[in-house]
Amino acid sequence: MTTPEDAKAPLSEEESSGYDRKILDYIHRAAAHGLYEIRGLGAKRALPHFDDLVLLGSSLSRYPLEGYREQCTTQTVLGTRFAKRPIVLDIPITIAGMSFGALSAHAKDALARAATAAGTSTTTGDGGMTAEERRSSRTLIYQCLPSRYGFNPQDLHSADAIEIVIGQGAKPGGGGLLLGQKINPRVAAMRTLPEGIDQRSACRHPDWTGPDDLAIKIQELREITDWMKPIYVKVGASRTFHDVKLAVASGADVVVVDGMQGGTAATQACFIEHVGIPTLPALRQAVDALEDLGLKGEVQLIISGGIRTGADVAKALAMGADAVSIGQGMLIALGCNAGYYESDGARLPADADYRALGTRAGFCHHCHTGRCPVGVTTQDPLLETRLSAETGATRATNYLRTLALELTTMARACGKHNVHHLEREDLAALTVEAAAMARLPLAGTDWTPGTPP
Ligand code: SF4
Repeated sequence: MTTPEDAKAPLSEEESSGYDRKILDYIHRAAAHGLYEIRGLGAKRALPHFDDLVLLGSSLSRYPLEGYREQCTTQTVLGTRFAKRPIVLDIPITIAGMSFGALSAHAKDALARAATAAGTSTTTGDGGMTAEERRSSRTLIYQCLPSRYGFNPQDLHSADAIEIVIGQGAKPGGGGLLLGQKINPRVAAMRTLPEGIDQRSACRHPDWTGPDDLAIKIQELREITDWMKPIYVKVGASRTFHDVKLAVASGADVVVVDGMQGGTAATQACFIEHVGIPTLPALRQAVDALEDLGLKGEVQLIISGGIRTGADVAKALAMGADAVSIGQGMLIALGCNAGYYESDGARLPADADYRALGTRAGFCHHCHTGRCPVGVTTQDPLLETRLSAETGATRATNYLRTLALELTTMARACGKHNVHHLEREDLAALTVEAAAMARLPLAGTDWTPGTPP
């Protein structure tokens, strides 16, 4: 029997750490539907990150550059190992592969225009190359994925470099998904698939099973393109030290390592949160592999997976990357998770559309639905008009320029005339975890966890 004293007692709200509200929701949803959750974007859990590192700016022991008078160069050359025509970029910040199908045609075009305006490259994705993105981009990297959707010799010849995708950081060992609602007639035609039917991309290439076969495939691609185009090999971060060595042994000119914070348009949530290793240790393992082989500098390294700011770029370069690649950040620059979209110069609210998806601006990860409130990841003819290629290009260009400015500002503060002169000695870690994973000293100490004193 409840007494008046009981009614006045405070409610018991002690949350279980093992069965918190997130896990309760997960089990309730699984019990109701018998299906795993599929969603877009990347890991939401807290992971060691570039935020856990700091750059050691100059003081008396180092001189900074005078920002108004002394130049700091950002030029970046990729693919110097075997290709006759390496990729030359104005900045070491590239745009990651994202498919037409996952993204709208306007979004793909916007990214291509932004890449050209900022002097960098953009990348195709699963599903092939659109005419607009080829037209708009000065430098276009053409992905060769396990699915081979939209892969053809004409586009291979018109590309500037080829990226063989072994895996993605959001789902190493897994393939992509494109749900039927995003497969409109144009997407279906490019992928030679029926319209409106859910599609699962393969997770394994059909014509090789290991590095020996991959070497033959790389040789074929080189011969088809007359040894002109650099060949990149992209791996999702897991056993990165060995994977990078095998990619190099297979003949890669450039290795792209995509860490666990990398995004996706649609994948099982269990993959996004529980498979792979964070970008920070992946980068360190990749650099170690190249140094171990004595090929650091000869084979270039691109790191991706959660690169968001110019500080992230500076730290990645200091750790040993030659360039970074950005996916999610570019989508956000286009308007992803903004509360509005632009139409004829006016800002219109998108709140109702987020609500219809069961979310709010700032929390959306619903790319898989095809109902993107801001027109970035949709094939719906009406929603697609919410992002024009012109507006998207302006925003994405501004974002890339901001990153480049921040990068040079920080490099100058470290006394570097060239952003590629940033080095591990310019870094310290703020947490023991980051220090151990990046193998850098904990700030203010000479202690690097896991290394002999
Ligand atoms: S706003 Fe659009 S692009 Fe961003 S997470 Fe939502 S659906 Fe995806």
